[in-house]
Amino acid sequence: MKRIILIFGIVLLGTFNFGLNPPQDPYKIKVVVIDAGHGGKDPGAHGKFSNEKDVALAIALKLGAYIQNNFPDVKVIYTRKTDVFIELYRRAQIANKAKADLFISIHCNSNDSPKPFGTEAWVMGLHKSKANLAVAQKENSSILLEANHQKTYDNFNPNSPESYIIFSLFQSAFRDQSIDFATKVEHQFKTRAKRYDRGVKEAGFLVLWKTAMPSVLIETGFISNPKEEKFLNSEQGQDYLASAIYRAFKSYKKEMEGDNYIPPENKDSSKKGDSVVKKEKPANKEELSKKEASKEKSDKKENKKADLAKAKKPEIIFGVQFATSKNKKPASSKSFKNLESVWSYYHNGYYKYVSGKYPNIKDAISQMKTVRAKGFSDAFVVAFKNGKRISPKEAMKLINSKKP
Ligand SMILES: [Zn+2]
Repeated sequence: MKRIILIFGIVLLGTFNFGLNPPQDPYKIKVVVIDAGHGGKDPGAHGKFSNEKDVALAIALKLGAYIQNNFPDVKVIYTRKTDVFIELYRRAQIANKAKADLFISIHCNSNDSPKPFGTEAWVMGLHKSKANLAVAQKENSSILLEANHQKTYDNFNPNSPESYIIFSLFQSAFRDQSIDFATKVEHQFKTRAKRYDRGVKEAGFLVLWKTAMPSVLIETGFISNPKEEKFLNSEQGQDYLASAIYRAFKSYKKEMEGDNYIPPENKDSSKKGDSVVKKEKPANKEELSKKEASKEKSDKKENKKADLAKAKKPEIIFGVQFATSKNKKPASSKSFKNLESVWSYYHNGYYKYVSGKYPNIKDAISQMKTVRAKGFSDAFVVAFKNGKRISPKEAMKLINSKKP
């Protein structure tokens, strides 16, 4: 009987939420991971008289001290505090284990020419130029010093541009926040530290890819530029840079914890990958979820009908999402440009169109190239588990865990 009352109570609370629940904890930045790039046998880039690993560590420690002194309730975790080698995946692992709210990776840039100078803040994404790819390649090549890098990173070759296509699949759920923080960092570099701001950019950095929180990789300057190398190695220069990042942190924290901020649904992996879609109008949540449930049902029926059911239905499927619309379009719609096996699902008030159903991600990637070539340049790979959207990352994890 007690159990029945309890269940009834839970159902009641869930269904008729009249605001009886105490107000929820506001979103808080509680844990920050500061990652000094390189270390130990990996010196990173070098200038005339210094190594990136030492500059990065000095700035990282100064940044941590600023945060700690001003926000004693924020936990600061360093991936390294001394000159030691730490694998890239482990840096991310440290942040994930600590359930960090923000990951800040500190580096210096370099170039064959001594001319380039200035700062950059990078977020995880697909590079838009060869120059951007080159920065990620340089930073990722640290893994070549790791003993088991082929196995650890699934044969990822930091020097091969083809390896980077994988990053187009993983639309980070934290992209907006990462860009937000990165923008603040660059703004502070410019105004506070009087650096030349080269902007916020995106590319496939392994260290960011593996983190499950907003994360930014900061190039604090070009160690290959004699003037900048001097600045990067000076006490004052490091102070300026660290305090600029600290100010960006402070402003980011304030914004995230503000009354008007709605925390992202980070914990819900089914939402991952949706960041490509423009922000949708907030609607009545309950109404929406009911609608969604019924639509999902009918969509599932259609999906079953779809032609790809040759093999036994795999529990996990991949497809290429390429369009969304408010009103449902038939699969034969001209706007789909004769794409193969188009089907749709309904989510958050929108119909989302997917081409293909594949049991493995490789086929989906190759289909993505086709779809993009047909003009849907923003197409990306999506994954479903029993009809429910999950992140491709999670799908791959599930598939891999099934293997003996
Ligand atoms: Zn670096």
